[in-house]
Amino acid sequence: MIPIDEKIPQKINRLSELAYNLWWSWTPEARQLFRQLDFPLWRRTQHNPLLMLQEISAAELEAAAHDAAFVRQYNKVMLMYDREMKNGRSWFHTTYPDKTDKIIAYFSFEFGLHNSLPIYSGGLGILSGDHAKEASDLGLPFVGIGFMYPQGYFRQRIPSHGWQEAVYQQIDVGQTAIRPAATLDGQKLKISVNLAGRTVYAQIWRVQVGRISLYLLDTDVDENDPWDRELSARLYSGDSEMRIRQEIMLGIGGVRALRALGIQPAAYHMNEGHSAFLLLETIREYVAQGMDFNQAAAEVKKHTVFTTHTPVPAGHDTFSFHMVENYFNGFWDEIGISREHFLSLGGHEEEWGMAFNMTVLALRLAGQSNAVSQLHGEVSRKMWQEVWPSKPVNEVPIVGITNGVHVPTWISSDMHELFDKYLGPEWRRRHDDPAVWQKLLDISDAELWRVHLLLKRKLMGFLRERVRRRWVDGRNDPTQVLTSGTLLDPDALTIGFARRFATYKRANLIFRDIERLQRMLLDIHKPVQIIFAGKAHPADDPGKALIQQIYNMAKNNQLGGRVAFVEDYDMHMARYLVQGVDVWLNTPRRPREASGTSGMKATLNGVPNLSVMDGWWVEGYNGANGWAINSEENPDHNAQDEHDVNILYQLLEDEIIPLYYTRDRDGVPRGWSQVMREAIRSNAPQFSMRRMVKEYTTELYLKAIES
Ligand SMILES: *Cc1c(COP(=O)(O)O)cnc(C)c1O
Repeated sequence: MIPIDEKIPQKINRLSELAYNLWWSWTPEARQLFRQLDFPLWRRTQHNPLLMLQEISAAELEAAAHDAAFVRQYNKVMLMYDREMKNGRSWFHTTYPDKTDKIIAYFSFEFGLHNSLPIYSGGLGILSGDHAKEASDLGLPFVGIGFMYPQGYFRQRIPSHGWQEAVYQQIDVGQTAIRPAATLDGQKLKISVNLAGRTVYAQIWRVQVGRISLYLLDTDVDENDPWDRELSARLYSGDSEMRIRQEIMLGIGGVRALRALGIQPAAYHMNEGHSAFLLLETIREYVAQGMDFNQAAAEVKKHTVFTTHTPVPAGHDTFSFHMVENYFNGFWDEIGISREHFLSLGGHEEEWGMAFNMTVLALRLAGQSNAVSQLHGEVSRKMWQEVWPSKPVNEVPIVGITNGVHVPTWISSDMHELFDKYLGPEWRRRHDDPAVWQKLLDISDAELWRVHLLLKRKLMGFLRERVRRRWVDGRNDPTQVLTSGTLLDPDALTIGFARRFATYKRANLIFRDIERLQRMLLDIHKPVQIIFAGKAHPADDPGKALIQQIYNMAKNNQLGGRVAFVEDYDMHMARYLVQGVDVWLNTPRRPREASGTSGMKATLNGVPNLSVMDGWWVEGYNGANGWAINSEENPDHNAQDEHDVNILYQLLEDEIIPLYYTRDRDGVPRGWSQVMREAIRSNAPQFSMRRMVKEYTTELYLKAIES
C-alpha cells in the first residue's frame, strides 16, 4: 500500500493530520469534508477517515484536489482547525490566564472517544471521552492517562439461539488515530513497574483529542514475558489478579509515564477507584524527596480529586489483603509505614471479611471526592459515612456533580443545522447557557417534526443496511435478519432502550405483562415498537440470559415484528439510536443508576425520556419534558418491579401513545412536538459536558491547582 502522505496531493495534504486528531469527529464541517471525499467509503469504514485515506485511490484524491467545492471545504476546515488549536481565546485561558501552565492529569480505565478506537465498554468510558473532548473545547491544561488495549472490548455476536458471543479483534494500529509517544528528545517512551518481584514494561501511545493529549499504556512489548504482555490485552477481562496488576500499571505506571513525558501535574483526577494507586506512587515520590509519610500524604491530598460512580457496594474493586501484600511487599518501607498501616489505608469490611477496597483508599487519601448526580451524592454519603466516623451523614465530604454529555459529539448534524439557523451563531460556544435555548420557541412544530422524521428514517435505513450487508456476507441467517429491525415500521411510535445489560437496568421490565404489552404493540391504528441493543459483560450470565429473553421476544411472531434486538452496540450505533427513536426508555432499579447519560444524548436530539426517577432524571424531569416513573424503593424486588411496570404501562396507554398519534391536518403531532422542544430546551444546557467540566473546574480542579 502507498503510504498516505505520498498519496495525498499537495493542495490537500493536511487531510492526514486532520484524520489523526479526533477533533474532526465532533466538528460537523470536518465530518462533512470526509463524507464529501467518498460517501460510500465513508459509510463502509464506519466513519474512520484514517482507514478511508488508506483505502482510497490516488486517482480519487487527485480528483478531489481539482474539485473546487472540495478544496473550498478543505480550506475552511483547516482554517477552523488552526484557529482552534491556537487556544488563546478559550474559556480557560480567558478566565484563568495565570493558571494555564497548571496541568490536570485525568486517569481512567477506559476512554470512549470514537468507535474506531474501541477501548471503552459503556457509560464510564463515554464519560471519560466526553470529558477529554470538552477539556479541549474549553482549553483546560489537561492530559488523559489510560490503557491501549490491543484487543479492545469485545464485539458482540448474537446467533439465532440468542446467547451472546464475544469476539475479540486485534486493533489495527495503522487504521487507528494513535501514534507512539516520544520523549522531549524524540526517543520512544517506555516505563516500568514492579509486579510482585518482576519488572513489567509498558510503551506509551498518544491520541490527539483536539488540543489535548491522551496517553495510553500498552504492555505488549518485547521485554515482557507472555503473561505480562497480556496485561493490557483486553478491557475488563480476567480475574482479580489481572485486575490488581492492571490497576498498579495504571496508577503507578501512569504517574511514571507523566514523569517520562516531562509533565508535572498540579492536579490528579481519578475517574473511579481503578487508578487510586497513583495516590501511593505520588506519596512515594515525596517521601523519596525527604518528607515523612504524613507530610507526603498531606501534600498529595491537596492535589487529588476522586470521582466515584457506583451506588452498589459490590461494584467497587476490592482485593484480598493477601494479594495486596504480594504486590506491595516492601512498598510500605519505601513510604515509611508499617505493613498494618499500609493495609489499613484501603481496609474495609466486605461481606466476605476485611479486604482492600480501592474506593476507600481513594476516599481516605484524595483531597476532594464527588459523586455523579445529586441523588448519587446522597446515596454515597450514606454508603461511605464509615470512612468519616466522626461526621454526620450530611457532612460527609462527597459532593454531587451531575454528569453531562459532549454536545457536539452526540447531536445529529440535522439538529445541528437547525440550531445553527435558529439559535444564532453563538450557540455552539454558549450551549451551556439556558438563555441561548429560549430561541427554540421560534422553531415551528412542523419544522422540528420534519427534522425528527428525517433522523428516524436515517436510523431505520442504518439498521436495514447493516443487516443487509451481514446477510450478503453470509454472516447472518434469516432469523438474525428478522430480529435486527428489518420489520420495523417508520410510522410507528418507536421506543429505544440501549445500554449495558447489567441486571439492575431491568431491560426486561416492559415484558412483565406480555398480554398488556402485546395490545399496545399490535394496535392497528396506534402501533408501538421497541428497539433494544446492548452488551452483557462476558462473565455476566444473568445479563446474557436477559439478552436471550429479549431476543426471543424479537423472534416471537406473537409480537408481530414489533421488537428488535440489534447486536454489537457501540458509539456508532448509539448515535443513530439516540437521534432517531421517538422515546428513550430507562428502567433501572432505583437508586442504582448513579447518573445514566444515554438519556441526555437523546434529549439533545429532541427525544424525550420515559424513565424511572433515578440518576440524572431526578434533576432533569420538569413535568413537561418527558415522563417519570415514580419508583418506590423496596427490598422486595418483585414488588418494586410490579409497582414500576404498572406506572410504565399506564403512562404509555394514557399519555404517551395518545399524544404521539394526535395529529393536526398536516400530520404533525403538535402536543408531541412541544414535549420534544421542551426536552431540548430544559435538558440540553443543564446536562451538557460543558456545564459539567466548568463545575469540575470551579469546584474541584481550581482548589487542587491553587494549593
Ligand atoms: C452513552 C452510552 C452508554 C451509557 O448509557 P447509560 O444510559 O448511561 O447506561 C453506554 N454505551 C454506549 C455505547 C453509549 O454511547
